[in-house]
Formats: sequence, C-alpha cells, structure tokens
Amino acid sequence: MKYCNNCLMPETKPDLAFNKEGKCSACIAFEQRDNIDWNSRENDLKILFKTFKKKSYWDCVVPVSGGKDSTYQVLKVLEYGLTPLCVTSTTCDLSDLGKKNIENIKNFGVDYIEFTANKKIRKKLNRIGLEEIGDIAWPEHVGIFTIPVIVAVRYNIPLIVWGENSQNEYGGPLNKLNNNKLDRSWLEEFGGLLGLRVSDLSSSYGIEKKDLLPYEYPKEEELLKSNITGIFLGHYIKWDGAKNAVIASSRGFSSYHKIVEGTATEYENLDNYQHGIHDYFKYIKFGFSRATDQVCMAIRRKKISREEGIKIVKKYDGKYPKEYLGKKLEEILNDINLEKNKFDEICDQFTNKKLFLLDNSNKPKKDNHGNLIPNFEIK
Ligand SMILES: [Zn+2]
Repeated sequence: MKYCNNCLMPETKPDLAFNKEGKCSACIAFEQRDNIDWNSRENDLKILFKTFKKKSYWDCVVPVSGGKDSTYQVLKVLEYGLTPLCVTSTTCDLSDLGKKNIENIKNFGVDYIEFTANKKIRKKLNRIGLEEIGDIAWPEHVGIFTIPVIVAVRYNIPLIVWGENSQNEYGGPLNKLNNNKLDRSWLEEFGGLLGLRVSDLSSSYGIEKKDLLPYEYPKEEELLKSNITGIFLGHYIKWDGAKNAVIASSRGFSSYHKIVEGTATEYENLDNYQHGIHDYFKYIKFGFSRATDQVCMAIRRKKISREEGIKIVKKYDGKYPKEYLGKKLEEILNDINLEKNKFDEICDQFTNKKLFLLDNSNKPKKDNHGNLIPNFEIK
C-alpha cells in the first residue's frame, strides 16, 4: 500500500489525491494554510457576521454535536456577539459523555434545539446502512447535515455556521479544498451518503416516505426563499482540533480521561456508542481508521514525527470493536436488534480481501483477540 510521504494517509482513502512528490492532498491543503493571511480572513468573518446580525431573532444556526469542535464553534460565535440557535441532531446511540457535553453548551447561555428523529426508524436505518454499505452511521451522517438546514429554513435563520470543511483537513479532490460553503452539492458529494440515497430507501425497504423527511435536504426553492448562507468557520479561522479540545476543556467540556477505543486521543468521538463500529468498518474497507486520521493531523502540525505516528497507528488502529466508551459490543448491537454472529458475518463481507490475510475457506483470518491480520505494512 502506498502512503503519503509526509503523513500516514494511504492511497486507499477515497477522494485522496497525491502530487508527483508523493504528498497527499490533505498535507498540501494544510501547507497552503501558511500562505493564507488569517488576520484578513478573520476580518472577513467579522464583516460577514456584522451583515447577519439581527436579521432575525437568532442570527445564525450553529450545528452542534456537543464535541470539542462544536463547543469551540459556539464560543466563537458568542465571542462575536451573535445570538445563535444551537441545533443538535442527536446521535444514533447518544453516550453519557455526549449528553453531559450538550448540557455543558446549554450553560453558555444559548437557545438550543435537540432533534431526535424517530428511533424505531433510525435503528432500521442503522442496520440497513451496515448491511448495504457497511456504514452504521449513515443516518447520523445524513442527519447532522440536514437537520440544521431544516431548522434554519423553518425559523428563517439566514446563516449556518459549520465547523471545519472535512474535505480540507482529511483530504479531498484538490479543486474542492478551498470551498468555503456547504450546500447541497457538497453534501451529496462528501456528506456521507455513500451511494445510498434517501429516495432509494423508501422504495426498497418499505419505510414510509414521511419518516425519511428528517434525512432530506430542504428543496432548492425553500433554500432560495430563506436565502440561507452556510459557511465553514475553518475557512476563516485556522482550525486545530487539538487546540479546540484544550479551549473546550477549559469551558467545561468533558473528555474520556483515557484513550478512546480505536482512536489515539481522549477527546474525540465521545457522543455515540456506535462510533467504534463505524471506525472499524473504515478499517476493514480501507486499511486505516480514526487513529491514522488523528496521527496525521498531529504529524502535519509537527507535534509528532512520522516514525512516532507509525508506532501509535500500529498500537491503536483497526482493533475489533469489543467495546466503546465502556459499552460492550453485544449491548450496542442489541439496541439495533442485531446478533453478534450476524454482525461478524457483515464484517467479513465488507473486509477488503486484498488487505488482510484469509483462511483456507477464503474468509478473513483473525488473531487470538479477534483482530484482522493485515498483509500490508504501514511505513
Ligand atoms: Zn499527507
């Protein structure tokens, strides 16, 4: 497997491009940040915020997961004197830590909407997502992009302040990296739909159309009528997740106080017990997962060397998700009515057979801990 020669992103990452020198598009985008006049960008932000102030009771919607980045987003918007309506599209299996961090943001003195789409349908969607495209988080990844926009349309709030453009930090097509807006085309391309379209679900799975409304982006005419602008804060402010974690922690954000299973930090993906399954599927499909993402961010910021990064990735990435944030896999699966045997079958089905050792019957081989055995070496 080919890796970026600066960070540890592998060629299997969808949408990742490499330049002639073997550097990945995420690293290139990161280096371009140094050429940006961040003071002038922040000035642009001030001007932009001024034009949106008091256009309605709430100046903007801030989509909030309760994580370190959205905690930072809310603080930033308040710092500029805006009146936000914070909107959380509840995660599929909200963790205790996630709840605690949402309550923490409420105490900043903001109005807040928590929207939980019909849980019965949601659990079906988790299973469909897992079985069809190997992504348990499909409904969550769609909902976090649609719900805040639906709320903005409903309440005529003209501005939505998103956090980082994930295509910039994690790498995407070079021509899309400098995009500072989130709109329907961005969502369709990068927002986690992965070829499973909302319209397909209704006809193929007998789910009623109206039950899927929370997962549908508002219609073009509604968006035009409300004249909504969506911006990425990361376009205007130099984004650093680790720094955001420090700032958020100083304002009451709680981390896990030990390394989160399958990752390399204590402060990310704390809001959903299903994250471990989601990250594991990324690993079995592409041979890298969350720990690699986190290590790459640290390498780019020169907080660790590439060699140190390799050690961390080997230690944490891609472990079978026995538990997450202390909740056992069986319990997590039980909540969506999925047997562990069936889960393991789905795992085997989505395991990239080119990347992992197979047994005699051509099924992915596991070690004594139930982990896959890679036939690639990160170097
Ligand atoms: Zn790179």
